[in-house]
Amino acid sequence: MNILLQVGYLLTAILFILGVMRLRSPATARSGNLIAASGMVIAFIVTVIRYHSFSWGLIGLTLILGAIAGTYAAKKVRMTAMPQMVALFNGMGGGAASLVSIGELHSNWVHGISSPGASISALLTVLIGSLSFTGSLLAFAKLQEWVSGRPITFGGQKLFNGILLLIAMVLGIYMSVSGGRQDFTLLTIYVILAAVLGFLVVLPIGGADMPVVISLLNAFTGLAAAATGFLLANNVLIIAGALVGASGTILTQQMSRAMNRPIQNIIFGAFGKVASGAPGAVGESDGVVQTANVEDVATILAYARNVVIVPGYGLAVARAQQEVRQLMEKLSERGVNVRFGIHPVAGRMPGHMNVLLAEADVPYDSLYEMDAINPQFPQTDVVLVIGANDVTNPAARNQPGSPLYGMPILNVDQAQRVIVLKRGMNPGFAGIDNPLYTNPKTSMLFGDAKSSLSQIIRALDEV
Ligand code: NAP
Repeated sequence: MNILLQVGYLLTAILFILGVMRLRSPATARSGNLIAASGMVIAFIVTVIRYHSFSWGLIGLTLILGAIAGTYAAKKVRMTAMPQMVALFNGMGGGAASLVSIGELHSNWVHGISSPGASISALLTVLIGSLSFTGSLLAFAKLQEWVSGRPITFGGQKLFNGILLLIAMVLGIYMSVSGGRQDFTLLTIYVILAAVLGFLVVLPIGGADMPVVISLLNAFTGLAAAATGFLLANNVLIIAGALVGASGTILTQQMSRAMNRPIQNIIFGAFGKVASGAPGAVGESDGVVQTANVEDVATILAYARNVVIVPGYGLAVARAQQEVRQLMEKLSERGVNVRFGIHPVAGRMPGHMNVLLAEADVPYDSLYEMDAINPQFPQTDVVLVIGANDVTNPAARNQPGSPLYGMPILNVDQAQRVIVLKRGMNPGFAGIDNPLYTNPKTSMLFGDAKSSLSQIIRALDEV
């Protein structure tokens, strides 16, 4: 029986790894998700058989409640609200790892069988899991706009956080080496400290930086789960935790690299507080903005040979992905070569634009990553920027001191013409002006992207 259980866990680990591998491309991501989910089903069955002392009634009830909540959330959530859903799920993972470890510690202490090794592992999990739980909940609340998305800072904040962490670590070491003295008061203080730290670490981070923070907390949760795996001698938990920890770390690194902001700047930089008078601050730009009407835009697009569409966060807000596909089809029927330029941090979560466009069945082979499309812009007749702002801002290239300076961008200003669809002159996530809008090559069509695109599609019939 034991061998069968181990084979079940091994199969689970293989399915998890295969699933993660297939998540690398939009074409295989859906099947990757299914493969990893079937791994989870096997892990669940094996675990229930292994710990057969569970109450079947309770297991069934939690299974049904969890399945209903998960299915409802997955079906109902809007694409723009995906980051907060991930935050919530991640928080639950951290909280669960912490609770399991508290349970193990409690049981070991009561039975007098705790060893320093097991205690360190459990206390580390409690620290990381509790921190991740409250940090993720605050990230969720910021993204949901239940609390202000602005960075909330106070004097001596970093020192205060550092002292709290130090106290928690001293307590943790004391409880580990004191060999199961059953000090539940100390354990309670330790859990509270970790939970407060989670809040305090996320407090000074701006709402729009949350996807990076969530990815980092996700990596932490993975580590907590792996540590729980050591505690419970559960191989699959160790492997799954390590996978989450590693992929969360890689994703965090990739996002911070794509924004050209070191991770310490994201965590401690209170990004989003752009001082007036700083290079690029809103209202500092004094160029002339040219506007275009729907008919002008339809004509320009209809007579172009090469068009590159650059989607951004505004496309997700407008939920205009179906209209984008229709526009692509209309232009392709006229012989226009239409491609998409995808910036790695366009939108509010990694792969945001890929997921949106895949939902509207835009062919994967028309999506070009930044490095592939950038050399093509000088030969492009028209770039149609839809609800993207920061990822096209030339200040990132040529305005030292700008909060975006150094971030790799889509060089849309190198195309022959640029048309921008957005509602007004509002800044993007970085909160700064975009000199692209006053470039003589650029024409702005103001309005909600969905409505502007529908009108352009209709106007194309008249051209
Ligand atoms: P952005 O810079 O945030 O700009 C989005 C623009 O969309 C806004 O200027 C807004 O202008 C416009 N917009 C909003 N609703 C619209 C609607 N209904 N119709 C038309 N336009 C609309 O977006 P981005 O260019 O995609 O850049 C993403 C930013 O998020 C980057 O700074 C990136 O570093 C950051 N970020 C991304 C991630 C990630 O993983 N993707 C993670 C963390 C941070 P109006 O209000 O004037 O319409």
